[in-house]
Amino acid sequence: MDTIRKSDATRRQANLVDYDQFYAGFHWEDAERLLDGLPGGKLNIAFEAIDRHVIQGRGDRIAIRWISKDGPRLDFSYAELLRETNRFANVLKGLGIARGDRVYSLLGRVPELYVAALGTLKYGAVFCPMFSAFGPEPVKARMEIGGARVLVTSHSLYRKKVAPWRKELAGLGAVLLIDGDEAEADTDTHDLSKLMAEAGPRFSIAATDPEDMALLHFTSGTTGRPKGAVHVHRAVVAHHLTGQLALDLHPDDVFWCTADPGWVTGTSYGIISPLTNGVTMIVDEAEFDAGRWYGILESEKVNVWYTAPTAIRMLMKAGPELAKDHDLSRLRFMASVGEPLNPEAVAWGDRTFGMPFHDNWWQTETGGIMIANYASMDVKPGSMGKPLPGITAGIVEKHDGMVREISRPMTIGQLALKPGWPSMMRAYLHEEERYRKCFVGDWYLSGDLAMRDADGYFWFVGRDDDVIKSAGHLIGPFEVESALMEHPAVAEAAVIGIPDETIGEVVKAFVALKPGYEGSDELMLDLLGHARKRLGPAVAPKEVAFRNNLPKTRSGKIMRRLLKARELGLPEGDISTLESDER
Ligand code: ATP
Ligand code: MG
Repeated sequence: MDTIRKSDATRRQANLVDYDQFYAGFHWEDAERLLDGLPGGKLNIAFEAIDRHVIQGRGDRIAIRWISKDGPRLDFSYAELLRETNRFANVLKGLGIARGDRVYSLLGRVPELYVAALGTLKYGAVFCPMFSAFGPEPVKARMEIGGARVLVTSHSLYRKKVAPWRKELAGLGAVLLIDGDEAEADTDTHDLSKLMAEAGPRFSIAATDPEDMALLHFTSGTTGRPKGAVHVHRAVVAHHLTGQLALDLHPDDVFWCTADPGWVTGTSYGIISPLTNGVTMIVDEAEFDAGRWYGILESEKVNVWYTAPTAIRMLMKAGPELAKDHDLSRLRFMASVGEPLNPEAVAWGDRTFGMPFHDNWWQTETGGIMIANYASMDVKPGSMGKPLPGITAGIVEKHDGMVREISRPMTIGQLALKPGWPSMMRAYLHEEERYRKCFVGDWYLSGDLAMRDADGYFWFVGRDDDVIKSAGHLIGPFEVESALMEHPAVAEAAVIGIPDETIGEVVKAFVALKPGYEGSDELMLDLLGHARKRLGPAVAPKEVAFRNNLPKTRSGKIMRRLLKARELGLPEGDISTLESDER
């Protein structure tokens, strides 16, 4: 697919005008200087996100515009957010919570979630967000692993998901309900709004050390049991910088990150980065709905939009006409993360919005964006872009227990990063061995396979576990899925390898169709023919199965391992984060 060129005007208005020059001269100390810090070399994420803007006279600017499920909106200025988060910190103080204690949330995207997250960080406690649709078991498991001391949740979520086993979690000192008072039933359950009303609006922010633990994030569980990644206050340096460079946030922007804070994207870029950059961020309480989303982009005059491939594919499925009905002229930059972004989706963005989606790559472990397509840089559809300034990325292979870099362009290897950036995880909680294994020689190994082209652009191939070995070829599912996505009937595709005695593995595709198409033998042959023409017989799938839906994590990632387990009649493994399960 052709490269999408950027005009000189687009380049000039980008924060990162000349990538190569900036990359060559960059030091992380430069990024630290973009923040204010606290006296004595201390650093606190919440101070950088809120208080410093108020101190510098920007307290009236809207920090969060919250759109409720039913429509009414609520605005919080930076000054209001300062007071609310101070109150929350005082609530923790009143409960006798210690610094470093773990404060969990189990909430939908309601204002209390944002206040609790930032108030916890102000207090110097550790925040751990959980996705509200988790069942009781995943909630309990995560709270046990992290040693939850406080839980902020709602009455109904508490009743369904926590009350049945609460007594088994001895360390859980307090449950704060945002919408109800269970205090009579249990002395450790409190009405948060009452405590907030009684708490003072002033709080002396905790002088946290940059290396103090700030956040605990569980991975998506796409490849197996979720891991708890530990992040520290210093991560804010990367959140702030990547917001400027990879998301191109300008001070007057309205920014919408559609991710839920239950996943790392929804915290790093749905709370911290936009606020440290002083923009107005949109929070939508409701779930995905194509019409609603276009409505929000239009009415809130969103300038920068950060979303995910699944959502983009759903918008594509809904058709471009819906987009054309809206005035989206305020949009300046669109980015995507979480899964490989098919070239077709990038091109669709360009046709529909007049600008491409800018793919970027990172993980819960990396805490922030590592590889990105920048506003000023030409986009090669299907590529994740180039490493952030301050990030050394390489394609490596293991050899005799060592790791060496592959310099030949377009050669598949493990995507690796040189450790040392501020938002790198400091541990997998209670899993030291697993953490240690991520590092070999000078490199952190991501577990993803990729290639780098001669221009330095990185291309995702597949997760290590998902790559298919067939007749001596290494086949990346992404390439095959992207080819299938080009077919007009295909809404989504997932590809796996099925063991085969002769050639190792054969490629099998699972396909969900766009509205108006029916799975038939004829369509199957057409898809196989299309794939063979695009990819050649060695790489094209040998079989296509139609599905109404593909199994996905709640963060929207296709679970290929589950398709494979089901296909082969193997145990399904950890499915705590599984969302759609319609076959
Ligand atoms: P688990 O580690 O529990 O199996 P997970 O890896 O899906 O789950 P996350 O940390 O949320 O958990 O996701 C990071 C992974 O998502 C990356 O390692 C990569 O496989 C995939 N990913 C993220 N962004 C991109 C992208 N732009 N292109 C391709 N893959 C991506
Ligand atoms: Mg992972």
